[in-house]
Amino acid sequence: MELLAIKGGTPVRDAQHKISYGKQWLDEADIEAVVETLRSNYLTCGPKIAELEKKLCEITEARYAVACSNGTAALHMACMAIGIKPGDEVIVSAITFAASSNCVLYCGGTPVFADVKADTYNIDIEDVKRKITDKTKAIVAVDFTGQAVEIDELRKICDEHNLYLIEDAAHSIGTKYKGKPVGSVADITTFSFHPVKTVTAGEGGACMTNDENLYKRLALARSHGITKDPEQMVHESEGGWYMEQIMLGYNYRITDFQAALLISQLGKLKIFSDRRKEIRKAYDEAFGKNDCLYIQKSIAESDTTQHLYIIRLNPDKLSCTRKEFFNALTAEGTCPQVHYIPVYWHPYYSELGYKKGLCPVAEATYEQIMSIPFYAAMTDEDVADTIKAVNKICDYYRK
Ligand SMILES: *Cc1c(COP(=O)(O)O)cnc(C)c1O
Repeated sequence: MELLAIKGGTPVRDAQHKISYGKQWLDEADIEAVVETLRSNYLTCGPKIAELEKKLCEITEARYAVACSNGTAALHMACMAIGIKPGDEVIVSAITFAASSNCVLYCGGTPVFADVKADTYNIDIEDVKRKITDKTKAIVAVDFTGQAVEIDELRKICDEHNLYLIEDAAHSIGTKYKGKPVGSVADITTFSFHPVKTVTAGEGGACMTNDENLYKRLALARSHGITKDPEQMVHESEGGWYMEQIMLGYNYRITDFQAALLISQLGKLKIFSDRRKEIRKAYDEAFGKNDCLYIQKSIAESDTTQHLYIIRLNPDKLSCTRKEFFNALTAEGTCPQVHYIPVYWHPYYSELGYKKGLCPVAEATYEQIMSIPFYAAMTDEDVADTIKAVNKICDYYRK
């Protein structure tokens, strides 16, 4: 067998042709859309924002959209809209990007981590039930890798306990659960449009909701808490210039040229989604029969626009550590990443008092997983080479 690149052999992809774990797919129409907006009258607070929000509502079948500067801002706005304050607990998935939980801290609330399922890596609903107390105010559930969480079961729990349901859908625009698009079910659904996500605005985010009251609060949170709507004002308007700050908000606005890019990208969502499904199928076929690896279990009810592809090492069949496998894959030029370190393992959270051992399944999962290159713009050759590299490493380290 050809030597592993890490041991001085020939890599599957050389330094000039490395494949990253994720990247954007832009075309000339996207660039044209940005340029056109740069030449228009509005760089921000202009008509592209409303156009984008309308488009997001069409795609997700949600009643309201509030576009904003990034997915983290969207999560913060969501926590502000539902009124998270000191003393409130919010249940959050243990394996996610730190932003899913930081948003609770921004509002002075306390994140309470729920474990994940060993096969889908989505939040474990049984553990959610165990973690509910009389201080619980909300659940932040992540559609991890793009697969929808069992949203109707979570909905039921939230209704029983009078909790808000926030769906962190940074991974899952375009996914449907039981035929309903992500964005149409939770009290607030948040999106991220970072370049590694399925569609991009460079930086960008949005909150979706069906609740008019939450919508108004989200819009206030985005822009300083200032309103020009007479119906929301405390006092009578003093004239055309008049506005009132009625809550403490931020500047979390997105620009019009970013909105223009995203509108153009959303026009290709179906193409991106289909390609992602195709690549997932190729990987599932290749790795499903590899006894060194476990693949993520599909949730039958989720029609998934895949965002990340995770392989999990089988320690009974492989003689290497996760780090050795990760380094070998990097040396082959097919660069992996790990999503994610359990949030509460970060030093900042340790200092707040969170201890290792809180969510044992999440911790064991983290030790064995990595994300391999996965994005819609991958060529068939990129996909084939990634499969080749993963199999090569498995063969080398197979017990
Ligand atoms: C990317 C991401 C975010 C944050 O989005 P930004 O746009 O980068 O701020 C939040 N949650 C999850 C699960 C993410 O993957």
